[in-house]
Amino acid sequence: MPIPKIVILGAGYGGIAAVLTLQKKMKAREADIILINKNEYHYFTTKLHEPAAGTFPHNKARVDIKNIINSKKVKFIQDTVLEIRTRERTIILKSKKVAYDYLVIGLGSEPETFGIPGLMKYTFNRWNINSARQLKEHIEYQFATYRNEPERTELLTFVVAGAGFTGIEFVSELADRVPALCKEYDVDRELVRLFSVEANSSVLPGFEPDLVKYATAALQSKGVDLILGIPIKECSKEGVVLANGKKIKAGTVVWAAGVRGNSVIERSRFPSVRGRVEVDKYLCAPGYENVFVIGDCALVIDREKRRPYPPTAQIAEQMGKAIGENLASMVRGNKYGKKAFRPVIRGTVASLGRQDAIGMIGRRKLTGYPAVIVKRFIDWRYLFMIGGVKLMLKKGSF
Ligand code: FAD
Ligand code: NAD
Repeated sequence: MPIPKIVILGAGYGGIAAVLTLQKKMKAREADIILINKNEYHYFTTKLHEPAAGTFPHNKARVDIKNIINSKKVKFIQDTVLEIRTRERTIILKSKKVAYDYLVIGLGSEPETFGIPGLMKYTFNRWNINSARQLKEHIEYQFATYRNEPERTELLTFVVAGAGFTGIEFVSELADRVPALCKEYDVDRELVRLFSVEANSSVLPGFEPDLVKYATAALQSKGVDLILGIPIKECSKEGVVLANGKKIKAGTVVWAAGVRGNSVIERSRFPSVRGRVEVDKYLCAPGYENVFVIGDCALVIDREKRRPYPPTAQIAEQMGKAIGENLASMVRGNKYGKKAFRPVIRGTVASLGRQDAIGMIGRRKLTGYPAVIVKRFIDWRYLFMIGGVKLMLKKGSF
């Protein structure tokens, strides 16, 4: 009898958790397990604001896939997914086609553009290793260029669009880096402007008011100018235009104003909302018993709050593990039954630079160094889970 072919698309938090669970649960030759990813490495998206600002080496924010998978049980294909043809049970890659019996889609997210003119062309809007490297180099180049063209003060103006988690974590990190950049390039700190522009009336909407107050004060003390309650309506070579007509001339605009599911979802004609497929309790795409969607490509409704769960690594990881367990059972003729997916939100921590953070762990509020330690602990736990003590010591920040 031919053995079933399980294909996992994307080696992010969801995809890696699915693969690691499958390789633990299944014997070699029980199923063909194939992982497809565009890079040869898995990167820690949750760390990317640090290499992007230049405060953490990008190499420590990634790990080679071959070092964490068991090649006797899992075949890795490095390629880009272009489209999924569900009727033919086939995936179209850049260089070939791959057939599947069971498919797990974990391709992550892309920037939400809201149709804003100039956004894709003039802003830094991707969060991956290459974009982080590029942004770090660009920031340094702005400082270096300013020294040769001192009349262009806009080179030292940085606008971060969106004061959600990504925007705040990045702008805080950049604020921490600025003194060192000023020293290196002999630039007066007073000339450097950091703007955080948010459509909502506060930073980090969703956190408790006292934690928001703490974060606001921390950002202001680092020299971040907060513009709240006004969305950006246009981006250009010169900078940004706000909804009230005000223009900010800036050499750098970083877009962190929200995400949507990977465009492969819409291209493959799955019914979706902002590129996210509303899955059932088994993470199945509507109408398919053998296609599962996890992580940022999936939409799961929090019935209590009557809104979708946010796209987070925490949930992506849990989805990956759940689908790994269910698939192991399914290929054995549902020997252990199927479990419905129910996310467990352990807490949330937002970093405010190298030495500061805020967080909610259960009902407990954390600020300052205790929150920083919890954030590091989350990173260490993840590294330990995917690569043991060795990876934790090699890639963790201590
Ligand atoms: P990803 O982890 O994004 O992985 C997708 C994978 O698919 C990648 O390896 C990518 O290269 C690959 N891929 C994409 N397209 C293709 C293609 N066409 N073909 C082949 N491969 C492809 N969440 C938290 O819970 N805690 C945090 O602290 C946190 N911090 C964050 C910090 C930043 C700066 C950002 C941007 C996000 C953060 N998030 C955090 C959100 C979290 O990173 C995402 O929710 C999570 O990465 C989603 O996991 P995923 O598996 O769906 O996708
Ligand atoms: P987000 O959707 O959480 O925040 C985007 C922010 O941009 C919102 O506050 C929104 O009001 C604002 N915005 C939208 N359009 C705008 C405009 N035109 N001008 C100005 N502001 C605008 O997106 P994110 O911060 O990228 O986070 C994405 C996901 O990743 C979320 O689920 C988040 O929880 C998760 N994440 C978590 C962490 C963490 O846990 N530490 C860190 C980063 C990201």
